[in-house]
Amino acid sequence: MKRVAYLTLYWHPQSPEMGAETRRFVEDLINRYRLKVEEFPSDRNFCDLSPLNADSKRFQDLMEEIERRGDIDNVKLKIWPSYTPAELESAPLLIWRLTNQAIEDDWYDMHEDGYQGGPKASHKRCPACRAELAQVRDLWVDVRKMGKRNLSLTYSFEIILSAPLAQRLQASGLTGFTLRPVWDYRKPYQGEPRLFQLIATHPLPPMASPPTEFERVQRCEVCGTESRYLKHTYRWGRIEYDDYTGHAYYPRDVLALAADFNRTAERFGDLPVAHPYVIISQRAYRWLREQNVKGWTVEPVVLVE
Ligand SMILES: [Zn+2]
Repeated sequence: MKRVAYLTLYWHPQSPEMGAETRRFVEDLINRYRLKVEEFPSDRNFCDLSPLNADSKRFQDLMEEIERRGDIDNVKLKIWPSYTPAELESAPLLIWRLTNQAIEDDWYDMHEDGYQGGPKASHKRCPACRAELAQVRDLWVDVRKMGKRNLSLTYSFEIILSAPLAQRLQASGLTGFTLRPVWDYRKPYQGEPRLFQLIATHPLPPMASPPTEFERVQRCEVCGTESRYLKHTYRWGRIEYDDYTGHAYYPRDVLALAADFNRTAERFGDLPVAHPYVIISQRAYRWLREQNVKGWTVEPVVLVE
């Protein structure tokens, strides 16, 4: 895995002279570190740098210089993992992340107060935190939003498949999921569904923690639902930044009980939309790649003794 840094610098000068001074400093940094820029407009006070190797001495030195410059008063730094094909092809289990949310939430939930868990809502919800406790009917959505996609999340992180992809998945022999019809909200339960919801049904035990690190753990005292993030917030002196390269760890013996599609015991995000991650087998990863569908990425899980 490589750690790749995405860095944008902002400054808010109190006078044109101070702005010019900061700009000169940034130009000097670009020259001395031979930085490439994505955007550095002459009439605005920011500089968006091209991705950098976050583990390099050059990047460490650059960050130390920036940290000392109080006039660069807003530093946006995000560090993302980058995996080689060989790393992905040798991981027994991977976190499956969908990367688009083309489909809105259930029509009733969105437009008729279903987030409160009323009688027609798609889910039974906790009366206090509104976390989803159980899905009680098929989803009714604006199916037109899917366009020609085969794969999308809803805003609430439900996984939606096109009917052709759902049929191929049903025939694949992969395990650990159910498919549920998704209806056009204008005429639910009529005709053949154009979309299906993929529900990973196979539960995994909790992640091994430590070494998995979490942050922002919340718990609803009424329903007991917990939510959290994989730890990603760190500080570089005065600069707070996001590092998404922290791994999810499982004991190695989880392999004996994993299916092809699994859901984590933990919910991630903030209540009420916090949701389990879907963890897929190497077999499911290869199947997904063979389908030539866009809109997803994976990240290896780390197994520990
Ligand atoms: Zn609750």
